Amino acid sequence: VANKETLDFQAEIKQLLKLMIHSLYSNKEIFLRELISNASDASDKLRFEAINQPSLYESDSELAIQVAFDPTAKTISITDNGIGMSRDEVIANLGTIAKSGTKEFFSKLSGDQQKDATLIGQFGVGFYSGFIVADRVTVESRKAGLTAEEGVRWESAGDGEFTIEAITRAKRGTTIILHLKPEEEELLSSWKLKSIIRKYSDHISIPIQMFKEEWDEKESKQVVTSELENVNEASALWTRNKNDITEEQYQEFYKSISHDFEAPLCYSHNRVEGRSEFTQLLFVPKKAPFDLWDRSKRSGLKLYVKRVFIMDDSEQLMPSYLRFVAGVIDSADLPLNVSREILQESRDVKFIRESSSKRVLNMLDDLANNEDEAKRAQYQDFWNEFGQVLKEGTGEDAPNLEKIAGLLRFASTQNDSEAQTTSLKEYVERMKEGQEKIYYVTAESYLAAKNSPHLEIFKKKGIEVLLLTDRVDEWMLSYLTEFNGKALASVAKGGLDLGDLADEKEKEEQIEAEKQYTFLLQKMKKTLENKAKDVRITLRLTDSPACLIADENELSGNLLRMLKAAGQ
Ligand code: ADP
Ligand code: MG
Repeated sequence: VANKETLDFQAEIKQLLKLMIHSLYSNKEIFLRELISNASDASDKLRFEAINQPSLYESDSELAIQVAFDPTAKTISITDNGIGMSRDEVIANLGTIAKSGTKEFFSKLSGDQQKDATLIGQFGVGFYSGFIVADRVTVESRKAGLTAEEGVRWESAGDGEFTIEAITRAKRGTTIILHLKPEEEELLSSWKLKSIIRKYSDHISIPIQMFKEEWDEKESKQVVTSELENVNEASALWTRNKNDITEEQYQEFYKSISHDFEAPLCYSHNRVEGRSEFTQLLFVPKKAPFDLWDRSKRSGLKLYVKRVFIMDDSEQLMPSYLRFVAGVIDSADLPLNVSREILQESRDVKFIRESSSKRVLNMLDDLANNEDEAKRAQYQDFWNEFGQVLKEGTGEDAPNLEKIAGLLRFASTQNDSEAQTTSLKEYVERMKEGQEKIYYVTAESYLAAKNSPHLEIFKKKGIEVLLLTDRVDEWMLSYLTEFNGKALASVAKGGLDLGDLADEKEKEEQIEAEKQYTFLLQKMKKTLENKAKDVRITLRLTDSPACLIADENELSGNLLRMLKAAGQ
């Protein structure tokens, strides 16, 4: 055909395809979930566009997805009457990866199949997962609003290139045809496909249909009729009653919206009524996504208005320090034509964000302070994955500071380990009689913190000190200044005031020493004139001859080092 063109995949896709086929083989059934989810996304997009342009429906407004198979041709097809794609869109969407974090993703691949499979899952292979079971994939599509002659066919064997040609397609929408590999023929069964759909895609809000099978007396076997039947429940999961949803359905829903292979750590499903009316279904993952530190990463929340999908990744719905939360918000109050700009201003959205943050913090608190040791261990795992992000909340979410402070975990001189397991509550419970402050030291590393000369007097007196070594800690400490009425105090600042912890003898010794060494002090001050503001006698050292301290209101030594390193 004259109009047929052969084009190359972007290099990343070639790499991804190779990797994916091998590492995802044990999860191969997800191809159907991914293709159905694309069909459902396409239907969501059409519904959204049609709010302002109803003619896009072309007298066919019953949105549905059809899954069919052909035992003779050995194909499975997935058809939707959603938004469809133009020729340019097919080339862009199915020939290149435009996702944010693509570079990070490829830099994280290790070559270890097990590890890479998880990463690939998080990255979301989507459409390309068809190549796990097919040795050739054909896509036929026509965009809503274009003419029948403006249809397009894309085809590839997943080996580095694809062809594209113009076709005539009467119906709007997209059909994906998988030409199965010989070893995948067991998928050519009504029963098999239905069970995969029910397992992975039951929550899809539009009908997923298959042709009914009937027993044929004459041929004495099951034959496929031309009558369609619904295979899924076809009501969006979050709109159902909690009691009608099984644990497994929640898990599969989470996996399908997050691309995670693992079940979530915990979730919360609520209908909120009152000042603003909305449904929230929020999941906390077990593992941090590969792009958690990508600054452009937005929250994993999808926004719906009265069951109509509005947008993905709406950062207005969740503060940045909870960006790892995945889920759905379905508002009854927002206008359907809401834009990102409107979201920024909306009081309803502010209310949703506050309510959702609180939910997430409560879920975490419930794990962290659970009587059940296994739950507390789960919280510790969560902390190890997400603790550094949660610390950002101390500055970002002032109204919830107290709650967040209760969730923090630190390394401590109490344990001989760099593991962050000590809560402020435990610290306070262990405080010595007469101790008024929560002491901490900040440093670049655990070893530096642990061996800091500032700790000597605390060791001698058996006072616990928290060892803070994360980059975000200094920043956090400018917001987190107290817990339960106990001030946080740096052991490296000011004229260390041990309060009632210093005994009489020590106070006398201090005065005595100051008298005795007046001359020496004066000489040292003179010598260090431009380098040190002051030179003092101290009893805080037991092994080291001297140490540097910062003034009460000055930046700490560690922060100065960090700022210097950052070129400030
Ligand atoms: P994702 O769904 O995460 O964007 P996919 O690899 O699943 O990634 O799909 C890539 C893109 O191809 C989609 O974003 C969409 O633009 C397009 N696409 C895939 N399937 C369809 C479909 N059935 N109808 C319309 N567009 C589709
Ligand atoms: Mg997809």
